[in-house]
Amino acid sequence: MTDQAYRTGRVTLVGAGPGSRELLTLGAVEALRGADVVLYDRLAPVEVLAEFCPGATLVDVGKRPGHHAVPQEDIERLLVEHALAGADVVRFKGGDPYVFGRGGEEVLACRRAGVPVEVIPGVTSSIAVPAAAGIPLTHRGIAHAFTVISGHAPLTAEEYTHLAGLGGTVVVLMGVSALPALAPGLVRAGLDPDTPAAVVERGHRSGQRTTVAPIAALPAAAALAGVRSPAVIVIGEVVRLASEGDAEADALLRRAGEAVAAP
Ligand code: SAH
Repeated sequence: MTDQAYRTGRVTLVGAGPGSRELLTLGAVEALRGADVVLYDRLAPVEVLAEFCPGATLVDVGKRPGHHAVPQEDIERLLVEHALAGADVVRFKGGDPYVFGRGGEEVLACRRAGVPVEVIPGVTSSIAVPAAAGIPLTHRGIAHAFTVISGHAPLTAEEYTHLAGLGGTVVVLMGVSALPALAPGLVRAGLDPDTPAAVVERGHRSGQRTTVAPIAALPAAAALAGVRSPAVIVIGEVVRLASEGDAEADALLRRAGEAVAAP
């Protein structure tokens, strides 16, 4: 046997961005080029795999909403097993591996097994998908904070109160099914029902679409439009800035400018 047979491989968690090849990092491309095995998710831009790692074994561990094709423990076991068998393994994950991506659990599983592991950050959909619709999450004089939450688990009354009272932008991932509970929950907790809100589907991919409505009307507007996952929900005054030249957006910018200029 050669030394090669005894070499332990490594695992690299690669943030793949929201789905377009332009938003892959150079680090992501380099890691793919060196990969023997790639475990990929549905939200990653899978079409680049044939180009960057044509010789690698590709494993679809595709997670879809409400349906985990391969259970998380099995994904972790596969990562470790392939690496211990000597393979350089890439875990190709949508967005950034540490934003609702269970990347932390995968890193811990590798460390526990003594497998060298590295994380390459990715462009997260929580920022890049609103941007694709022209929505900046912060804007001087309008929003100086943003909070990213998951719609996966129901929020507590206390969380609704904090979110509604924070005054910045709220971004919700995995929020399409939660929207009918989320919007009235925020309004009950004190958020102005007229707060502009948007759902951005398939950001940076073909079929990208934005649905805008005041938060109180967003569930109905989303249902009417037939909004589907993957989508990012954005709630806050910054949503108005997407419609450049729009009277309300212009008025908001003017007020923000005056507020910033005031002593
Ligand atoms: N780690 C990822 C998020 C994983 S949770 C990241 O940093 O982006 C999965 C959620 O991300 C989806 O339910 C959706 O809310 C959002 N998402 C990911 N890619 C998206 C895209 N191209 N368009 C819209 N939403 C997207």
